[in-house]
Amino acid sequence: MIRLGTKYQHLVHGTGCGCLSPVLQQASRRLDEFSRRSFLAGLGAAAVTGMMPGRSFAQAPASKLLLSKVRLFDGKSDKLRAGVQVLIEGNRIASVDATNSAPPSDATVIDCGDRVLMPGMIDAHWHTLYAAVPLAVIATGDPGFVFSASTAEAERTLMRGFTTVRDLGSPVFSFKQAIDSGVIPGPRIFPSGAMITTSGGHGDLRMPSEIPPDSGRLSVSELVGAAAIADSVGDLKQRVREQLLQGASQVKIVGGGGVSSPRSPLDMSTFSEEELRAAIDVARDWNTYATVHAYAPNTVQRAVAAGAACIEHAHLMDEETARIMADKEVWLSTQPFLSTEDVAQQTGPSAERMLQVFAGTPRIYELVRKHGIKTAWGSDVLFSPEITPRQGIMLTHLSNWYTNAETLRVATSVNAELLALSNLRNPYPGKLGIIEEGALADMLVVDGNPLEDIRLIEDPGKNLAVIVKDGKVHKNTL
Ligand SMILES: [Zn+2]
Ligand SMILES: [Zn+2]
Repeated sequence: MIRLGTKYQHLVHGTGCGCLSPVLQQASRRLDEFSRRSFLAGLGAAAVTGMMPGRSFAQAPASKLLLSKVRLFDGKSDKLRAGVQVLIEGNRIASVDATNSAPPSDATVIDCGDRVLMPGMIDAHWHTLYAAVPLAVIATGDPGFVFSASTAEAERTLMRGFTTVRDLGSPVFSFKQAIDSGVIPGPRIFPSGAMITTSGGHGDLRMPSEIPPDSGRLSVSELVGAAAIADSVGDLKQRVREQLLQGASQVKIVGGGGVSSPRSPLDMSTFSEEELRAAIDVARDWNTYATVHAYAPNTVQRAVAAGAACIEHAHLMDEETARIMADKEVWLSTQPFLSTEDVAQQTGPSAERMLQVFAGTPRIYELVRKHGIKTAWGSDVLFSPEITPRQGIMLTHLSNWYTNAETLRVATSVNAELLALSNLRNPYPGKLGIIEEGALADMLVVDGNPLEDIRLIEDPGKNLAVIVKDGKVHKNTL
């Protein structure tokens, strides 16, 4: 029945009201059942998936898919295992064996002709809605363009072999639902939602006309969910909880300044240690973690002291900070920016800071290696459809410090280890970044051997023959 609560019953049961007629009662029961199911399915998910046709842009899902005659890089080993076949049932790997046994009669078979099979790659620092859209368009444009450009980019990301991304700040929740429900093709997304900063920190992109806030009115970047600005512990906790409420798998707290926020210098710090601890505790209460954006050593150290599980960037890291991170086993999620080729054009203070980051990159990888810091890789591509095709090149930059096997491990099983910190807020329970029985079926067939030539990753259009995500074939040239 239509439920308005006892307070409003007089509005529905007046003289001449027909709501007790059998026909209306039946219709009401149906509505009741429908809304109950929708509610149980999750309000947000229902809003998207409930209205969408059950159509996928990927090829029809194969309930059983056999990838035969592969040489396997499983995401962990240094060596390829030859003569393997991998059976996928639904969205999981059912078996990995070298027995050459006949496939189930109802399986689709792809003969991989001794090509290399590897796990789908993971980018641990990505901005789904901002990677391919210029900053000026984001700041002034309408969301329609941002979502259209990002829809096209999501498919290109998947076609580069990145089957999962960890989103470190963009209003991505409903976009993620559109991908997960097959409405648009794209990678799995571990969303952070809005990046949470104090006034003046990286992510505070308010126009001068929006300062100070007009009696509590939100700025444009806050309204769209790109940033959340909090200057007290209470507000900070509320903003963190709001991201988690919307489905964040982890939260991103801004600990200092940044490159692309010209008014927030790299050396400055935002939240106090006590404030950081409050935000981190809220994430922990939700059985997940907070990661802290920090470049300067004092900012990194403050975040570690507050209990951060992960630090983003840290390009100005010094020896003492590296030792502390290693001691406390804190994750570092960083990006090997080497030159202006790797970033959208920057001007003024942002351009100067970018040079500091380029100079810091070799140093950070030396420190990482020396102290054995757990280190994830991400590309952090921002504001440029010209730069996004370089996502794979950002990965192969690691070969300056890593062997090819190490580079591939970082992009698969190591990054997956970081994703697993999302614990009970992991949106895709199951193993990622590895090819073994029971793991989620995200994998790539490479024409050539990336353990010998890592640069094959740089030209995915040519060198990736098959792309499978969640058991569905998104590309197959064989
Ligand atoms: Zn950041
Ligand atoms: Zn970023």
